[in-house]
Amino acid sequence: MSLRMIRDVLKAREVLTHCSLCGRAFARFPSDEEHIFPRWLQHHHELWNRKLNIPNFLGKRYKTVKITICQRCNGTTFGALETRLAPLLTNGDPFTSIVTVCDAELAVWLGKIFWLLIRKSHSVIDYRTRGLPKPGRIIPDELFPGTLYLGMMQRAFATGKGFESCFNNDLLIPELFCGAPFSLYRFRIDTRDNRFEAFDFMDNPATLGVAFRSDNLGIICIFDGGLHRRFRQHWYEFLAGHALHPLQFAEVAARIIYDQTVLHEDATRVTYYWNKALNAIVSQMHTPRYFNPYLEVHHDPKRQADLIARFTFNDPSWILRPDGSMVTCLHDLNGDFLRFAVTDEELAAARADPNQIVFGPMNSDWRVSEHGPSSSGSA
Ligand SMILES: [Zn+2]
Repeated sequence: MSLRMIRDVLKAREVLTHCSLCGRAFARFPSDEEHIFPRWLQHHHELWNRKLNIPNFLGKRYKTVKITICQRCNGTTFGALETRLAPLLTNGDPFTSIVTVCDAELAVWLGKIFWLLIRKSHSVIDYRTRGLPKPGRIIPDELFPGTLYLGMMQRAFATGKGFESCFNNDLLIPELFCGAPFSLYRFRIDTRDNRFEAFDFMDNPATLGVAFRSDNLGIICIFDGGLHRRFRQHWYEFLAGHALHPLQFAEVAARIIYDQTVLHEDATRVTYYWNKALNAIVSQMHTPRYFNPYLEVHHDPKRQADLIARFTFNDPSWILRPDGSMVTCLHDLNGDFLRFAVTDEELAAARADPNQIVFGPMNSDWRVSEHGPSSSGSA
């Protein structure tokens, strides 16, 4: 039964005929067109007429981003999660309120928005290729199979099953080794700087990374089998307990997503198994448990600078300087967290500090780090 489910997810049926979450056919089960960004979230931030700034939906308005899903997913399975999350995320202090919600629930919820966006954009023909015999998709076919990992997780939740991750050599007794199939980080956001909106959503389908910011809560989640949490979490520990400026949050998101681009090839491949004892789909990575798949040899400062620049609306040449050093707004020269200068006093102090560079369209304060987090290991 559930092996069939795995095969069905990998088949990726058309979004127009089947529910993207549970896979049921609209011909047999009632469905509705729904907002991908929940109505309560759009209402809270008055997003309706605002335009998205994520690559596949540039210029689109939030209220127009819809997809058809079945009524059971919308009203019951995912609906129950929404009903629980909505008041917590809109009460003015979501960072505190959300402590009662476990990472797995947040990952499913954020993953649902991300997955539906992927399905929606993959279903859209890229207008630049519409004259060709085989028109391209906005999310290219080469990229799409990797995103099915997220689809598998959503399918499992929609059908009341678990979704677990394990490593290459764990298979004999997965029950002992299985873990969460994602890496999720929560941050408190410093909301003092009113030049920045209280909401942001950034995604990167190629690495299955998504970042979400709403009022004083920021969440970054990578659907990576838990690799980042296991091998890279310590790079970001200096941020613990601090409130991040929206620009700092964007830089962290870019850096975490960049991390996924240096992975060993085998770490991006999985094999799915059905495990009856766990009532779960187990995704087994092709790398062993004690092998760190984040490879220094894949590190490319230019690619890293490009990503940070895109996420923070800066120019890559400001991030990666001609002498090869990387500019960051996250830490000082000692690797300690740097509080982002917002008030006039803070800005004056930042300008007086010879180690700080104050520039950019946001008048943001970036520091030059001789060794970026990717090579120092301290950040
Ligand atoms: Zn459904």
